[in-house]
Amino acid sequence: MQAFSYVRATAVDDTVEAMRRPGTKVLAGGTNLLDLMKGDVEQPAVLIDITHLPLADVVELPEGGLRLGALVRNSDAANHPLVRTRYPLLSQALVAGASPQLRNMATTGGNLLQRTRCHYFYDVAYAECNKRSPGSGCAARAGHARQHAIFGASDQCIATHPSDMAVALVALDALVVARGPNGERRIALQDFHRLPASTPQQDTNLAPDELIVAVDLPPSRFADHAHYLKVRDRASYAFALVSVAAALDRAGDGTVRDARIVLGGVAHKPWRVPAAERRLIGSRLDASAIDDAARAAVDGAQPVRDNAFKVPLAQRAVARAIRTAAG
Ligand code: SF4
Repeated sequence: MQAFSYVRATAVDDTVEAMRRPGTKVLAGGTNLLDLMKGDVEQPAVLIDITHLPLADVVELPEGGLRLGALVRNSDAANHPLVRTRYPLLSQALVAGASPQLRNMATTGGNLLQRTRCHYFYDVAYAECNKRSPGSGCAARAGHARQHAIFGASDQCIATHPSDMAVALVALDALVVARGPNGERRIALQDFHRLPASTPQQDTNLAPDELIVAVDLPPSRFADHAHYLKVRDRASYAFALVSVAAALDRAGDGTVRDARIVLGGVAHKPWRVPAAERRLIGSRLDASAIDDAARAAVDGAQPVRDNAFKVPLAQRAVARAIRTAAG
């Protein structure tokens, strides 16, 4: 690990101002950043510790939604009574993420800002990684790529985003609230993370001098019929090979009024599948509608050598998640 200066933040606006200095990184739970610093993947000159800023509250919004402060710990969010009753999909996704020890440290904002990555990104012994060192190549393209993307990849990078929480937040139409030099702006979760294209070093659309202060959840329409399904190599602690957030809004006669199908573990960002959602809307979730939606969810998948198994796995996972959400 390289030497760095440590600053404890005392105010949000001062933090935003300080973030404008090159080489500055923000420290919250530290569950990703500190690992990367220890491996010399990240080498900040200044670390601003924001853990004492007043951003750790869960607050009801006037129109019926919920605001999660950026510093709400993942375990606290997962167990909060309002999250569990109104947004069970989010609670399930949070509990599926990482280990209890990590959830006790990881924060709402930090979870969103963990690096989209693969094992080659972590290991500086591999010189080729466009995400770590732009223009150097991609070791995964010719190497071990079992965990990698089947949607939205580029010739520059085929890594997958590891967050379970972000997949559920996309399904719930959540908004990131960011504070920058020009004030606050809101970014739909769906537009927050980026595909790699020719700039895989940029994981999100957050500007370098913007700080996440909260995540807003709109009033829930999906509390009664939602399920987060995570398929992974180890049930105890592993990133998703494939995950599915399935959320349904059903009328009294069972007809689906609205639906969200979002996949995790398959792309550089949470992968929403409107084509699958359209197969469900207006149906009563008969077997053919569910099978159609599951097929649509993997339409256009482009696996690489090691991860073709993810295509049928995702298709089956989508069907199972919809059936479980339907109850
Ligand atoms: Fe780096 Fe992305 Fe290639 Fe992994 S997939 S080695 S993160 S460029």
